[in-house]
Amino acid sequence: MTRSVLVTGGNRGIGLAIARELAAAGDAVAITYRTGEPPEGFFAVRCDVTSTADVDAAFEKVEAEQGPVEVVVANAGITRDTLLPMMSEEDFTEVLNTNLVGAYRVAKRAVRPMLRLRRGRIILISSVVALSGSAGQTNYSASKAGLIGFGRSLARELASRNITVNIVAPGFVETDMTKVLTEAQQEQIRKQIPMGRQAKPEEVARVVRFLASEDASYITGAVIPVDGGLGMGH
Ligand code: NDP
Repeated sequence: MTRSVLVTGGNRGIGLAIARELAAAGDAVAITYRTGEPPEGFFAVRCDVTSTADVDAAFEKVEAEQGPVEVVVANAGITRDTLLPMMSEEDFTEVLNTNLVGAYRVAKRAVRPMLRLRRGRIILISSVVALSGSAGQTNYSASKAGLIGFGRSLARELASRNITVNIVAPGFVETDMTKVLTEAQQEQIRKQIPMGRQAKPEEVARVVRFLASEDASYITGAVIPVDGGLGMGH
């Protein structure tokens, strides 16, 4: 049966790879985009996850188009990197508001229809730095660590209702988010990765497809690293 899927930030990077992967697996996939033009081939709704009204409106449009959302991937995220003494309160709260509170808004809106359906999959895109920490990313690491506590608590709330909540923790992935780093910074990170290279967005997307699938029916509250070994030991 075709499932209704929603991927936030599905217009580029990891989100777009996830949308493509799930569509290829036979799902009806809707994406949200915040800026620019959405890619072709998906039902796309404009949505800024820092706005509860936007999130609600996006769900309503997606429900009207393809039915209640059975799989939701909270992927939208930003960085505002700098060392703490230079980090403005706005840099900190904006990252928290997008990455963590945004996922709260999306998951909260998703849950009630999933309870009525008596099934669902909620997948949160965290990061390896949630557990390892990362100099210059106190805001981002806090937001991504928050997703783990949030997701595991929600997993406990929903486990008996046939709704799973899992967290994917990618390492260093080839997208616009990491392209802004200098070649020297990228080389420095690559040196720390046991596999010695960045991930392709598709390598994250395939894990999301698995977690969304029936094969992952007994996995909930898990943090799944997709990081070439970068986070081992955390
Ligand atoms: P990109 O910068 O390539 O894409 C970010 C996506 O998030 C875009 O679709 C963007 O929309 C969307 N977005 C940002 N802010 C908002 C907002 N307020 N409301 C709605 N959408 C928003 O990043 P990646 O693909 O690399 O990252 C995707 C996720 O993976 C993020 O959560 C990121 O933290 C996480 N991640 C990435 C890693 C990496 O190495 N790249 C590693 C670990 C985790 P728009 O195009 O309109 O700006």
